[in-house]
Amino acid sequence: MKVLVINCGSSSLKYQVLDMQNESLMCKGLVERIGMDGSVINHTKIGMDKVVKEVPMKDHKDAIAQVLDAVQNPEYGVVKSMDEIGAVGHRVVHAGEKYAESVLITDDVIKALEECVELAPLHNPPNLMGIAACRELMPDTPMVGVFDTAYHQTMPPESYIYAIPYEYYEKYGIRRYGFHGTSHKFVAQRAAAMLNTNINDLKIITCHLGNGASVTAIKHGRVVDTSMGFTPLEGLVMGTRCGDIDPAIVTYIREKENLPQGVANEILNKKSGVLGISGVSSDFRDLEDALSEGNERAALALRVFAHKVRFYIGAYIAEMNGVDAIVFTAGVGENDVYMRDIICTNLGNLGIKLDPIKNKVRGKETEISTEDSKVKLLLIPTNEELMIARDTYNIARKVK
Ligand code: ADP
Repeated sequence: MKVLVINCGSSSLKYQVLDMQNESLMCKGLVERIGMDGSVINHTKIGMDKVVKEVPMKDHKDAIAQVLDAVQNPEYGVVKSMDEIGAVGHRVVHAGEKYAESVLITDDVIKALEECVELAPLHNPPNLMGIAACRELMPDTPMVGVFDTAYHQTMPPESYIYAIPYEYYEKYGIRRYGFHGTSHKFVAQRAAAMLNTNINDLKIITCHLGNGASVTAIKHGRVVDTSMGFTPLEGLVMGTRCGDIDPAIVTYIREKENLPQGVANEILNKKSGVLGISGVSSDFRDLEDALSEGNERAALALRVFAHKVRFYIGAYIAEMNGVDAIVFTAGVGENDVYMRDIICTNLGNLGIKLDPIKNKVRGKETEISTEDSKVKLLLIPTNEELMIARDTYNIARKVK
């Protein structure tokens, strides 16, 4: 079966077609500037050069129509007709407490996801638009929803309940949900495979360190805690997000600077993190360049980031009473040799020893701990699209 994976953002859309017979990637693409001037589709058939086509797209339906067109193109497409696509997998950010696993999309599922729009006002609406457009253009093809929050639904209440009046949980669903679940799940499964051990016998800490970043504790195959919370703002210091801060700071700054709520949100989401500390960039490559030129605030931003990752690793070792493997993934986790090094420095007493030579690697699945390290340190490139395609295939083949 061939599976189309769709990841819809507010003005962009990423897609891939995978052949699930051997899980091979056939084509991938990115649509940008949906609903704006200069809409463009970038399409790459594997083994061929990228095709870039500027074409007006007023909404997500137009964008999906362009994707279907590209996928069927006689020159750079990968199927003769859409009948060859057995199912479509949609990345959806927030499923609240409703779904702990991926599901076949039905009218009821769409209703449930619409109820979650309040919890993810920026993310769920474009996800839903993508689903609606695909259902219209491919009415007979099964659609599967794969949720960022689902994997974290096994967290026990002591991990997800905030210490605010309980009625806010009951009335508004204010609790910790966690995100990046598809990535944490993918790398945890890969870690078990690399260690040749059943995931149910392992304690794993997965560090998804990208522009957005989160750490997850997975005990015997079940998430017991994760660093993102009610929104993706909580937890680690990120590229532009503040992560954990004293909530009193928000009201204090708003008063001092006379800021409306929207602006405060923007500051915490877009102007904070390593960008906010350094004043240089949210990109770790820029920060390390600045560090080598002696920029002290860039150096500080990198140290604060590493400190927070170590903080969560320590917390999760305590929560799980030990750890067998720590995984690094996503842009920073996969590529930033320096950052992995400073995160893992001086953890020998916890049985964590990074091999500085093995660590000099980027974007490749490999072990980077010393022979005598009790805890395995693993570098595992994430592949959320493959995880979405797998879930989609497994669900869709049962209904076909
Ligand atoms: P997201 O999907 O959250 O946008 P990614 O997982 O793609 O983010 O990570 C992007 C980030 O990864 C970049 O902003 C940059 O900080 C970091 N990154 C990518 N390549 C490198 C590298 N070679 N060295 C250091 N950091 C890198």
